[in-house]
Amino acid sequence: MPIHRDLLQRTQDLAIEFLRTLDQRPVGRPVDFTTLTARAGGPLPNDGEDAAQVIEHLARAIDPGLIATPGPRYFGFVIGGALPAALAADWLTSAWDQNAFSFASSPAAAAVEDIAARWLLELFGLPAGCSVGFTTGCTMANFTGLAAARHALFRQLGWDVERQGLQGSPRITVVASDESHVSIFAALQMLGLGRDQVVRIPTDEQGRMRTGDLRAAIAAIDTPLLVCAQAGNVNTGAFDPISEIAECVHDRSGWLHVDGAFGLWATASPVYRHLLRGVELADSLAVDCHKWLNVPYDCGIALVRDRSAHHAAMSLSAAYYAQPADCARENHDWVPEASRRARGFAVYAAIKSLGRNGIAEMIERCCTLARRMADHLSRGAGVRILNDVVLNQVLVRFGNSDAFTAEVIRKVQEDGTCWLSATTWHGMHAMRISVSNWSTSEADIDLSAAAILRCSKPADAP
Ligand SMILES: *Cc1c(COP(=O)(O)O)cnc(C)c1O
Repeated sequence: MPIHRDLLQRTQDLAIEFLRTLDQRPVGRPVDFTTLTARAGGPLPNDGEDAAQVIEHLARAIDPGLIATPGPRYFGFVIGGALPAALAADWLTSAWDQNAFSFASSPAAAAVEDIAARWLLELFGLPAGCSVGFTTGCTMANFTGLAAARHALFRQLGWDVERQGLQGSPRITVVASDESHVSIFAALQMLGLGRDQVVRIPTDEQGRMRTGDLRAAIAAIDTPLLVCAQAGNVNTGAFDPISEIAECVHDRSGWLHVDGAFGLWATASPVYRHLLRGVELADSLAVDCHKWLNVPYDCGIALVRDRSAHHAAMSLSAAYYAQPADCARENHDWVPEASRRARGFAVYAAIKSLGRNGIAEMIERCCTLARRMADHLSRGAGVRILNDVVLNQVLVRFGNSDAFTAEVIRKVQEDGTCWLSATTWHGMHAMRISVSNWSTSEADIDLSAAAILRCSKPADAP
């Protein structure tokens, strides 16, 4: 088979050059969509071009539109970069081009997902019997966990929801908080459970579900119960009191789902694990590997205590899907997709390259750096930190005005030293900083804090 050695080596050079200069390029830069599409686009080609030319052209044309999200000073959303071992494994994943669908389509992908799944359960301190699915991200991990919940709760009612559907079904009730992530509602809308049917529980000043209100709401519910809690608020990083929530939910034989997209990684650290007390009691959990584990996109994980509910909600069967008798794992039993990327390789490489201690150290380092950022910024005139910095998230307000805060964010984004985004917190416009990248150093924080303070000089205040 032709191996295109020159093409792949040139591609490797392009990738290395991007990574080598990652911390020197402006982290985000204003780019015009039309310019970008004009640079890269053109009419549908009738005839093919040399592959090396195509790659050179692609890399050159879209370069102005690349954001340094894998770099050390990108603090927008909750992103994370790519650990060296994870990136390398991801390159091989493309070269190997395995279909992670089943044992038959890739014994390697089935085995490695099984290994990575066991490691993840141990890292998170969850029961070894939980089932684990590798999804595109946490939205689909939430979907998967909630689908398992839907199965189990309808089973309590003697209703096989996968076969009978929701039309004419008895009712179950879904409870979430005022601060539940939008992906919970996206998952519920896809599951036919209806965004607007959700009972919403108020939250405290850090965005944590109020358990008193939860108890009162549950007392008024007489159907099977699904409660969605959150480990790691996207704005403040705060954790719902999972142990207390689990107790109320299980008193009612309800199902507790925990969205721990980034926050669940705190269980990997002896210093931060206490924030998730009771998490092992959850019936299902969702977490991202492409956020804080720092594997390349895309990878989320669904973890479910009741394997049979998980299996019933996700499995598909066809005559030609026959599985070998000695197969321990069929990847497709635990996720919505059939054919898909072999996501386990990068997760395996990330965990193996850091080990339990290295993961704990990475999580703790990000949290320490977030506090360092908050300390630097809080010394600026008119700067206020809005949240208790309990994890890796920092919320900042400038000059106590929405307009000025928006202006500072715009200037920082233009400046290019670092990149961060805006949010609304308790009705106020705020800067949101997330420290989630393995490569961020104290020097990156110091440089970024100085840039932010420069952009927020009181002289510019209205
Ligand atoms: C990012 C995030 C999600 C969604 O995850 P995706 O990987 O973007 O699908 C869900 N919940 C929380 C708390 C998040 O931070």
